Amino acid sequence: MGEELTEAGGKTRLYVPGDLGQDVAVSLAQGQAHYLLNVLRAKSGNLVLLFNGRDGEWLAQIVQTDKRGLSAKCLRPSKAQRAVPDIWLAFAPIKKTPSDYLVQKATELGASCILPVFTRRTIVGRINTERMAANAVEAAEQSGRLSVPEVRQAVTLDSLLRAWPSERRLFFCDEGGDAQPLAKSARDQSGPAAILTGPEGGFDPTERKALRELDFVAPVSLGPRILRADTAALAGLAIWQSVRGDWG
Ligand code: SAH
Repeated sequence: MGEELTEAGGKTRLYVPGDLGQDVAVSLAQGQAHYLLNVLRAKSGNLVLLFNGRDGEWLAQIVQTDKRGLSAKCLRPSKAQRAVPDIWLAFAPIKKTPSDYLVQKATELGASCILPVFTRRTIVGRINTERMAANAVEAAEQSGRLSVPEVRQAVTLDSLLRAWPSERRLFFCDEGGDAQPLAKSARDQSGPAAILTGPEGGFDPTERKALRELDFVAPVSLGPRILRADTAALAGLAIWQSVRGDWG
């Protein structure tokens, strides 16, 4: 059997949207073919890992179809698909830390959906959702995940809350100081969850009041210090994962 293609982070893993299964051949996207052929110097016969978020991960063999085209034929399953703890991250984008970075870290930390939210004090005007989604794919490939988080279009806090699925607990990271630690709230709750963090200037009083009045919202503390918004988002995900994550 051909040798495995490896990169710095280990075996080459590629996310493909199509179905995977025994002897199924998937054609790779042009960007992926370009990367394999020109960066990794891939040859027909090399082995890669494929995943699509539904059919687990498969060891697949590269077949060069033409000068720039590549397909990969599934040889055998390498990891079974399994349900992962369902945690969303809703975050107010901040100036200093590019949202791409936050998406990459949230993907590594197992977020299943990433929702940029414009709050009253958000100073970031525009974000590039397409680029964020591409970052999520890359981070999922690198981190060994079997799924890629959904990256949603940015919405205002008001419209996010109006359309919120009420069965999903929303842990509102409130630096106000009187909330229960997230670890405790996460332990006391089962079912789908989300973490919400504010911008550099925090939530304004009307937003905080509106959030606290919603029965699907649980204000939570991330500790006694005021964290930067990006630290808060990642700390929140890490705390949630350590309490509710499925390390099995
Ligand atoms: N209003 C803050 C700055 C906001 S920090 C200040 O007084 O300087 C940015 C966001 O991170 C906050 O809106 C909140 O969602 C989150 N955050 C920061 N520290 C936190 C803490 N100790 N507990 C809960 N959330 C926190």
